[in-house]
Order: sequence, then C-alpha cells, then structure tokens
Amino acid sequence: MKLANKIALVTGGSRGIGKSVVETLAREGAKVAFVYHSKAEAANAVVAEQAALGREVFAIQGDVSDNASADSIVQQVIEKWSRIDILVNNAGIIKDGLLMAMDPADWHAVINTNLTSVYNFCHAVMRPMISQRSGRIINMSSVAAEYGNQGQVNYAASKGGIQGLTRCLATEVGRRNITVNAVAPGFIETDMTEAVRNMGGDKFKEVVAGISLKRLGKPEDIANAVLFLASDDAAYITGHVLTVDGGLTLGGI
Ligand code: NAP
Repeated sequence: MKLANKIALVTGGSRGIGKSVVETLAREGAKVAFVYHSKAEAANAVVAEQAALGREVFAIQGDVSDNASADSIVQQVIEKWSRIDILVNNAGIIKDGLLMAMDPADWHAVINTNLTSVYNFCHAVMRPMISQRSGRIINMSSVAAEYGNQGQVNYAASKGGIQGLTRCLATEVGRRNITVNAVAPGFIETDMTEAVRNMGGDKFKEVVAGISLKRLGKPEDIANAVLFLASDDAAYITGHVLTVDGGLTLGGI
C-alpha cells in the first residue's frame, strides 16, 4: 500500500472525481476525511461503502468557500487523527454563461468555491504541515485554465488562479518538505459534465473525436494521478501541473 498510516483530507469527496480520490487514497491505506456541501445521502453512502471494506473514512459537511468553515474542518481532522499528510483541494462548481450576460453572483460563486477555497484550505493546513515538516497538497485545476472555452470566463479564471497559486506556494514551502502540485483534468464523466454528454446531434461525437484516446476520462483516471502526486513516488515533484486529458488539448487531427 502506497499510503499506509497517512492522513488525507479531500474536499468535494461525495461524488465524481473526489469520490474516486477518496476511494483510491483509502484503498492505498490512508485514513481519509472528506468534505461535502449539500448531498448528505451521497456522502453517507461513500462512508458506508468504505467502512464495509474495512477502511477509515469520514465525512464533514461544510462550505469550502468559507474561511471559518475550512479552519473548523481542518481542526476536526487534527483532533481526530493528530495530523494531515495529504490535502486534496478538489471541490468545484460551474456556472457557465457568456460574460455579457453573467450575473455577478455567478462570477463570485465560482471564484469563491473553486479558488478562494484552495486558499482557505492551504492556509488552514499550513501550520500543521510546517510543524510536521512534511505535507502533500494537490489542487484540482482544469484544462480550461489554458484553453479558451465560450461561457467559462469565471471557471477558467478560477482554474488558472489555482495554477498560479500552486506554483507560488510550492516555492514558499519547499524548504519545509511540503510539495504543492495541481492536476488539470480534461473531459471526465461526472455530474459536472452531464449536460455536455447529453447534447443532441453530432456535438457530443465531435467532442469525443477531438480526444486522442477517443473516450472521455473516468474519475479513476484523475484519482490515479492524485495518488501518484500524494505518494513517495512523487517526492521530488513540486509546482507542477499534471494534465490528464487523454490528449484533448494536443490539437491533433
Ligand atoms: P461534481 O461531480 O459536480 O462534484 C463536486 C463535488 O464538490 C461534490 O462532492 C460537491 O459536494 C462538492 N462541492 C461543491 N461545492 C462545494 C462547496 N461550496 N463546499 C463543499 N463542497 C462542495 O464535480 P467533478 O466533476 O467531480 O469535479 C471535481 C473537480 O474537478 C472540480 O474542481 C472540477 O472543476 C474539476 N474538473 C472536473 C472536470 C470534469 O470533466 N468533470 C474537468 C476538469 C476539472 P455535494 O455532493 O454535497 O454537492
């Protein structure tokens, strides 16, 4: 097991990519706490599934965009397990729309949930990780950070911000033996991409045709990249953004 005796905190672990990250880290021996926002039933199901497999996983309700909530969640994990070795900032939302019609509330919701949350949780784990003299932080960005996509100015700004934050923080905490990396997924089969998958006509076929591997990614494809960055195998990697998109952004024909 690659993560025996490690303690991990994953935001947005009730569904999609985060759920797969929780399962993968727990399978590799980590004790895992995860944050969910509103879907308690889904969160409880993840905890029950993992408990049935003999794994230690617990769920905490909270809003990642709220600084006090992040502090309280980190405190709860430390009270329970004394430390945090791995932080995965995964929670995220979309509120797509062309800029000229974008409500300020939709701008702020996406920036606060996707980007400010990463500041909140990195800030909250900083003292514990510094005093442990070790830590792994993995932030969920997106290929949308680097490639223009109509209707996603808020989302792309949040995911680009995550990449900048990742590189800067990596330079600040490297001497403390803390690594900070990001994963940039392409098109992954989760609730977030359901609307695109249900697009009519040939649109969806065109999306798949543009992916070199000719399929959408699965949450496990991203969870495996997170596992790598959280493991000892990635001990000398920091400030890196790992694209996991099946070749979506290669622009091949
Ligand atoms: P998803 O299926 O919609 O799941 C989102 C998760 O985030 C849920 O667990 C949700 O909790 C949680 N969450 C949302 N807002 C929250 C808040 N304010 N506080 C706490 N938790 C919150 O999303 P996904 O597709 O797995 O995406 C996960 C991450 O990967 C996101 O950062 C997303 O931007 C990124 N990403 C996804 C794709 C893709 O193709 N799917 C591509 C690139 C990047 P509840 O269950 O309680 O709502």
